[in-house]
Amino acid sequence: MQYNISYDIAAILVLIVLAGGMNTVLYTDTRGAKLVRWYVYCVFISAITDVITAYTISYGYKISDPVNLILNTLYQVSAVVCVAVGVRTVFSYYPRIDAVNLRISRILVALLSLLITVNLFTGVVFRFNKGVYVHGPVYIMAYILSFLVVIHAFFVVLFYRGDRPGTTSTIVLCFLAIPIVFSVVQMLNPDTLLNAFGEAFAAIIMLFALETPDYRKLMKTMNELEAAKEEANIANRSKSDFLANMSHEIRTPINGILGMDTMILRDCDDPQIVEYAENIRIAGGGLLSIINDILDLSKIESGKMEIIPVKYDLFSVLRDCYQMNRMRASENGLEFLIENDPSIPTEFFGDEVRIRQILNNLISNGIKYTREGYVKVNISYGEVGSISDTLNEHEYIMLVIEVSDTGIGIREEDIDKLFESFTRLEEGRNRNIEGTGLGLRITNQLVSLMDGKIEVASEYGKGSTFTVRIPQKILGQKAMGRFAQRLDENTGVEKTNASIFTAPGKKVLVVDDVKMNILVFRGLLKGTEIDVDMAVTGMEALEKTKLQKYDIIFMDHLMPEMDGVEAFRRIKQDRANPNADTPVIVLTANAIVGVREMYIKEGFRDYLSKPIEHGELLNMIKKVLKIN
Ligand code: ADP
Repeated sequence: MQYNISYDIAAILVLIVLAGGMNTVLYTDTRGAKLVRWYVYCVFISAITDVITAYTISYGYKISDPVNLILNTLYQVSAVVCVAVGVRTVFSYYPRIDAVNLRISRILVALLSLLITVNLFTGVVFRFNKGVYVHGPVYIMAYILSFLVVIHAFFVVLFYRGDRPGTTSTIVLCFLAIPIVFSVVQMLNPDTLLNAFGEAFAAIIMLFALETPDYRKLMKTMNELEAAKEEANIANRSKSDFLANMSHEIRTPINGILGMDTMILRDCDDPQIVEYAENIRIAGGGLLSIINDILDLSKIESGKMEIIPVKYDLFSVLRDCYQMNRMRASENGLEFLIENDPSIPTEFFGDEVRIRQILNNLISNGIKYTREGYVKVNISYGEVGSISDTLNEHEYIMLVIEVSDTGIGIREEDIDKLFESFTRLEEGRNRNIEGTGLGLRITNQLVSLMDGKIEVASEYGKGSTFTVRIPQKILGQKAMGRFAQRLDENTGVEKTNASIFTAPGKKVLVVDDVKMNILVFRGLLKGTEIDVDMAVTGMEALEKTKLQKYDIIFMDHLMPEMDGVEAFRRIKQDRANPNADTPVIVLTANAIVGVREMYIKEGFRDYLSKPIEHGELLNMIKKVLKIN
């Protein structure tokens, strides 16, 4: 007999494509999908062995009977495995199927296997007689048992169909029915081999209908995720905006409190009251620095923090840091040192404010978390190459700031947590140390905004070293020299700078909608003999400036109705106004960096941030009025 193997060949081709597809694009990772994949492999082997047997039966006279028997048995075995794997696949979708039905299925498969094994020795199903394929007495049993396995599975699924969505059960039932239909057709046309084709067809349905992700649903879910992400971003932005606005609002009243307090400290002789006022100053300063931290962090998180490069002198930055921190260090009984590589250039173009902030944060942490010993800053430099190869190394250096202390140190497992918001390590131990856990997070973010890197080395109980590397543009090759030596030479000048001066006959106008701020301002200038005039609205400022000439105008930015910038523009534009060319200094509680540049661009002479610092105000007036 000559078999028609074209359906088997077609099945083999389809199965190759399916296996390839499953292993690359179409495949999901469910248990069902894994079983379908095994099913496809089994059908593939079965189709190939089917083709081989068709060939050996047709041309049996050339092949010995025992070899023919073994080849045919291999085909039978692979067909049983296909049935078994197919049924297992189906059952995997219905985990509630009871033990009795599972056992029935297994017994049927076992009987089928037994029959094929027995046939090897008895030829009860089929055998070969001088190359001729002969059916044995129970030939039909092999078919019946295979059908029974599949039909049993069909009814089990039908029974449990409620466990899965309707479409799933329909597909599974088709998966079982199709091979049966094809086998029946093959039984009626024994010379056309259809089994493998039917099974491959079933596998296709299973794979595409059940085990390939539903792309429409997937897209819908992805869109929903996208929308949820957007919503979360909006919520996060409103949080940051709220924090920024709130901190901004809080700064204004603190400004009043600290200003008034400065006057109490200056004018009062009662030591008890001076002590109270000193406490207000310390607590107010602490509050202000928390507010500033929150403001900074919310700016960073909403992506609004900008790095504003300006020309600056590294020596002055270090000197200010030294002066700001040495008192606290000595109060805590610590030595505080700043050392440097004397050959480091001193004139840079970078964000001075942020460099100061980084230095101060690290130094103040060093002081806070050290009980005895020292806090040391070491400033050196290297080539930029290690961080960025886009920067021209003639123009840039890598500024290396190292702040080391002999403090409590940080446990190795805690180092990763250092830069998270509101994370304070060892809360119990550090209970008495003030802090919010924001400082290092801000420092780290600022360093990355400047394309730099921060590293921490610490030995628990012995001390820590924070190393910051930031590429900075240099404006000249002039070396700074030894910091400590220059500081000694400079201190004389410092003292005269801070001293009060008089400027009789000079007139300034202060514009602020909060009257208390003006009173503070007046108080700060007491003793300078400067005549301080005031206006509480932009309109009033316009009127006053028309009437007389001032030497300086101090203008608050945020005022209801007409704000400071608008009032400033009107004064400038009115050429008949005697103050059209008067220097105007803007006063702002807006601590955000970047506004500084904006004000200068607008035409303001300079800006003072609130709360106004006594020394800063005096220095500003001296600078503008050119008083020595
Ligand atoms: P804060 O000091 O306000 O708590 P920081 O963000 O500056 O917040 O620091 C986070 C935590 O890291 C601190 O609470 C402290 O536990 C630890 N830490 C920071 N600097 C040091 C240091 N120099 N030595 C030991 N621990 C430190």
